[in-house]
Amino acid sequence: MTAKKGRVFSGARPTGKQHLGNYLGAIKNYVQLQDEYDCVYSIVDIHALTTLETTVNLKENTLEMALDWLAAGMDPQKSVIFIQSHVPEVTELHIYLSMVTPEGKLTDLPTFKDKVRENPNNINYGLVGYPVLMAADILLYKADTVPVGIDQAPHIEFARECVRSFNYRYNTKVLIEPQMKVTQYPKIIGIDGVNKMSKSLNNEIEISATPELTQKRVVSMVTDPNRQRRTDPGNPDVCNVYSLHKIFSTSDQVNMVNTECRRAGIGCVDCKKMLAENINQNLAGLREKRSQLAAHPNDVWDILHDGDKRARVIAEATMQEVRKAIGFAE
Ligand code: ADP
Repeated sequence: MTAKKGRVFSGARPTGKQHLGNYLGAIKNYVQLQDEYDCVYSIVDIHALTTLETTVNLKENTLEMALDWLAAGMDPQKSVIFIQSHVPEVTELHIYLSMVTPEGKLTDLPTFKDKVRENPNNINYGLVGYPVLMAADILLYKADTVPVGIDQAPHIEFARECVRSFNYRYNTKVLIEPQMKVTQYPKIIGIDGVNKMSKSLNNEIEISATPELTQKRVVSMVTDPNRQRRTDPGNPDVCNVYSLHKIFSTSDQVNMVNTECRRAGIGCVDCKKMLAENINQNLAGLREKRSQLAAHPNDVWDILHDGDKRARVIAEATMQEVRKAIGFAE
């Protein structure tokens, strides 16, 4: 076996089915990096508790996420795919990292301020510490590379600072500074045409949606606001339908839309139908594989439980070094 370049870690909260933003911004890289790197991917269910009001769907959402990941090409033969709460060492590292983290640094993070705006009635201690737990995830597995969307940049920078603080405080080199890695599409905009595609904003297109639902979501996309009537010329440069055409359509179709939209030669409805067809075509294989996997959920749970075991081996080894570096009595 050839030596791998390094270790990759990434994770996502099991909030349900994955959307085009997750897929294009993160999962594409998860899949691509599997051959070159030693990859560890986590369904971060502990993180989910920071914002969830109820956990009744947690188990089901864990399975949904695993189905999306496996259908997209994440391969348990190549990567460790596991459930965060099944390797509790991460909570131990989290508490040690919290001791080298000034509280103000967490409350100053733009991502924290966003969460406060979204959930003003649930600002819990865990939410403040979210980036510390995320740093613990990455550092526990000694990852040097973290594939994420651009929204995660402040968290990766925070993780790097954690490493420097911890290693300096305990005069050690045990933790490794990670680098973030974005895809060609680090920020996919939602169907509202303005905000990052996100489940919580209800502006998402799920990768596992039916072709009909996909078409319905695409047809409801907000386009160039200045194009009020079919006869008005449009501006593809400010239209998210055009942005998605550039990802899912052929270059001939992209050129045609670019030219015809500007002279009102194509209407938004036809333009959107073409996009929906292309998205459906692009995801047909993934959806087919997903339904096959969904027919055997126990096999998926087995994959995750096997991942748990493999993750725990790495986690235990790191924690032995961490405890030693801190200087606990043996
Ligand atoms: P979490 O909050 O657990 O990170 P998300 O579902 O928000 O879960 O994100 C999972 C991954 O997908 C992250 O790496 C995130 O940066 C990426 N991602 C989420 N939304 C988008 C988007 N609209 N465009 C690009 N990447 C995204």
